[in-house]
Amino acid sequence: MKAYIIEEGKLKNQILTALKTGGAAAAGIANLSDAANALKLHADPRLHRFSRAVSFFVPFPRSVIDELLDGPSHTYLHYYRAVNTLVDDLSLKLSSILEVNGFEAFPVPSSQRTGKQRLDSIFPHRIAGYLAGLGWIGKSGCLVNEIFGPRLRLGTVLTNAHLPPDSPVADCCGSCTACTEACPANAIKGIPFSPNTHVSERLQAELCDSYQNDVRDRFGKRVCGLCLAACPFGRLNSKHGQ
Ligand code: SF4
Ligand code: SF4
Repeated sequence: MKAYIIEEGKLKNQILTALKTGGAAAAGIANLSDAANALKLHADPRLHRFSRAVSFFVPFPRSVIDELLDGPSHTYLHYYRAVNTLVDDLSLKLSSILEVNGFEAFPVPSSQRTGKQRLDSIFPHRIAGYLAGLGWIGKSGCLVNEIFGPRLRLGTVLTNAHLPPDSPVADCCGSCTACTEACPANAIKGIPFSPNTHVSERLQAELCDSYQNDVRDRFGKRVCGLCLAACPFGRLNSKHGQ
């Protein structure tokens, strides 16, 4: 391993600036060491060696998500792919910055399913986003940012650089049940997030998958996103919107 050539606080500032300049709306550092037990539940064991995750997100245009309230949308699918591409580009740039400075970096693919069900992945972006203080994990299982709600795509780069970490924010779902009520598959159980329980205790991913397969039969593509569109956080006309 090369000698480190930059102090970690300065490297954090460089990373956050690069992400925001490149199109991320927010970014932070997750301390994975403090969450080791929770991550054993959620992450591929090969990735447990990393002590930090850089987490960031790129928001969807609000109007694109609003269209989902009227039914499946090809526009949403187009921007789903476009935003994922931007997230992967930013993760690669970030990995390069870390490696140039002598640190290990592992960019987690923006959208890669590794099992049978939705949310099966090598490392859950939403856990990194939660630990980095970008939002809380809502009853829908999505990361919810106070300004953008769940209308976003997360990126994560794991690293051994001991970047100064940020802290999780409070869960603001409260008594809201909008995502549970909006879900046409009854997949969202309405149970608040807890770091030490598996997502399957809150979300029946197999029902979500089955519903999206039904949508493909009549619309041609797997799509839903009603839990994103229904959340009061991120909606323009909501008291929680910007
Ligand atoms: S994407 Fe649709 S079916 Fe799946 S959890 Fe969200 S609202 Fe339910
Ligand atoms: S719709 Fe309500 S309960 Fe669901 S994630 Fe958003 S704030 Fe939380």
